[in-house]
Amino acid sequence: MEWLERQDFLMNTTVEQKIGGEDAAAAAQNAVNEISHLESLMSFFIDSGEVAQINRSAGRKAVCVGKDVMTVLGAAIQFAEISGGAFDITLAPVIDLWRRCGKQSVLPSSKEINTALSFCGYHNLQLDNENNTAFLRGDGCLIDLGAIGKGYAADCCIEIYKAMGIQSAFINLGGNVKTLGNNPDGRPWAIGIQHPDQRRGTFFGALDIQDQSVVTSGAYERYFETGGKKHHHIVDHKTGRPCDSDIKSVTVICQSSMQADCLSTAAFVLGLTDGMDLIGKTDNTEAVFYTENNEIYITRNLPGQFHLQKISRLDCYVCR
Ligand code: AMP
Ligand code: MG
Repeated sequence: MEWLERQDFLMNTTVEQKIGGEDAAAAAQNAVNEISHLESLMSFFIDSGEVAQINRSAGRKAVCVGKDVMTVLGAAIQFAEISGGAFDITLAPVIDLWRRCGKQSVLPSSKEINTALSFCGYHNLQLDNENNTAFLRGDGCLIDLGAIGKGYAADCCIEIYKAMGIQSAFINLGGNVKTLGNNPDGRPWAIGIQHPDQRRGTFFGALDIQDQSVVTSGAYERYFETGGKKHHHIVDHKTGRPCDSDIKSVTVICQSSMQADCLSTAAFVLGLTDGMDLIGKTDNTEAVFYTENNEIYITRNLPGQFHLQKISRLDCYVCR
């Protein structure tokens, strides 16, 4: 079988595709078109997009949106509820504050953080599924799909491959991986998990994956520094600050990449104990936690699927 590999920069991240079959080039191009389209709808920064329209209309009017954004917003509310608000797209005022401060390498004041927090809370986002509209209740409320959009896009790309008759494929949108069928050797795809403290491409373990998604959230991915202290990009809904997690990264494995995206962000905020509980109560979902103490904790169904890199010399515990 012929194999095609392609890399692009979309959704502010590197998108990597490996596709087998005669139509691979066309499938890869269709996936790129789909991701660009979703980005134009869902980006916080693209003024003509649906998300930007919802944000601009906050406190004033409901905005009519298409199926893609409606699906993502519905799931976002569901995962906010399941995670007790640890995953919450309405944290955007706080996320945006930290992002703006990060550009200038300064810290926001407590007053700025509290003001931004006062506009947050997923109850502020109202969906009308009959009329396909979304409304933010208060002027100053905002949404940011940074923790869910890439997962949704990965799911859409796999559907595109399938519709084109592709049987084997891999797509990675900046740490959101989803696979279809087997790899070029005819075996399940081996997906490496990035070591949180080592350079990109260094893996501490790998997962055998077939028709599943693997998504990692970690403090190491994006951050800025002030006075030698790192401030990463995942916000704690309780404090309005980068969460003080007891894990360095968490990787979630399940069928839906959108679900894995939401849950990995949520589990990172919740930390090892509560994050493990959240994964435990979600059907057909597994996880790998890498703690601050450099220990690995995996969910009970993973041992056959997860392989620790021998040279990593890490301890791995299975949670019962
Ligand atoms: P991820 O890499 O999927 O964990 O998503 C992180 C991105 O989601 C950040 O860069 C923010 O844009 C946004 N974000 C940060 N904290 C949260 C949170 N607690 N809930 C939802 N989205 C968040
Ligand atoms: Mg996420």
